[in-house]
Amino acid sequence: MSKILIIEDDLSIRHFVSTLLMTQKYDVIEANDGQSGFALALSHNPAVIILDLGLPDMDGVEWIEKYRTLINATIICVTARDDHPSKVAALDAGADDYLTKPFNPGELLARIRVAFRHLSHKTSANLAISEFSYRNLLIDFDKGRIFLKNVEIHLTPIEYQILLFLAKNQGRVCTSRMIIRDVWGSTATEGDIQNLRVVMANLRRKIEPSTTQPTYILTVTGVGYRFNDE
Ligand code: CA
Repeated sequence: MSKILIIEDDLSIRHFVSTLLMTQKYDVIEANDGQSGFALALSHNPAVIILDLGLPDMDGVEWIEKYRTLINATIICVTARDDHPSKVAALDAGADDYLTKPFNPGELLARIRVAFRHLSHKTSANLAISEFSYRNLLIDFDKGRIFLKNVEIHLTPIEYQILLFLAKNQGRVCTSRMIIRDVWGSTATEGDIQNLRVVMANLRRKIEPSTTQPTYILTVTGVGYRFNDE
């Protein structure tokens, strides 16, 4: 289960990434456009896909929108620019993580290790985990209760749902839209995004030792939030 598919039309980048991954003993397959990438994803069932967002036959975001539900793999997208809108669009469409070119090899390998760690978590999550704990925070899913340093804290239902969503996606960047869709079940309006900010500030006041330097829920500037996993 350590198969990685690289979908990238730039030959030098593809070669660089595949060589790097092979030195780490990953099983690597490669495609140079979206169509053949999808075909390989179906036939080889890779655990991780590294997807360039600027493909010759289609846009990477479009690729994710079209195929996400058909593919189990963790998708890490790679964007040429430090372009917040396209990162956000890719995450909204169902990408799991992103990297901005030029990226350093260590960073790419770290993201891949995280992806594989999440896969093993996902497998064990099927065994009905009833608790989540990280540092001083404990969530009891069955009872719907939160404890900080063993002292119960009280959250509003919305705060609880947001915390739950982020904790379940620990390590993964969640866009504001993803959170709103999960919590409010709606397509995000500007007003919802504003509400989310207010709720997030209240939630942080309740769980974070310092609201200016959060340790549980981190802000990913221009994109959304991520539950710390370091
Ligand atoms: Ca490209």
